[in-house]
Amino acid sequence: MIPNELIAYYESLVKEQGSSSSEDEANEHLRAYVVELKDAWEKRAILRELRFRAGMAVCSGGVDCVETPTTVCMDGRHPTCSKHTDDCFLCVPVSSLSQMTR
Ligand SMILES: [Zn+2]
Ligand SMILES: [Zn+2]
Repeated sequence: MIPNELIAYYESLVKEQGSSSSEDEANEHLRAYVVELKDAWEKRAILRELRFRAGMAVCSGGVDCVETPTTVCMDGRHPTCSKHTDDCFLCVPVSSLSQMTR
């Protein structure tokens, strides 16, 4: 059971990072920037995982995609956001797997 407060907490963290635009810093800040990026990536992945466990629909196009799914993938089986319809990770591995075993 995932409390909605936890999801809301991560949603607010992800939103904060999305709006910050102090990325045009000099090279000495690049390291910190990379750490920040990784941190942001992890938070999106966590938010996605929490939504999934709470039974909410998550986009199947990227492990860090936190867009609300509004459509389905090309195969029509998995919810994805509008950006990831061609990019469903639940479909692509299966088709390449069956090619390998044939
Ligand atoms: Zn997506
Ligand atoms: Zn799919």
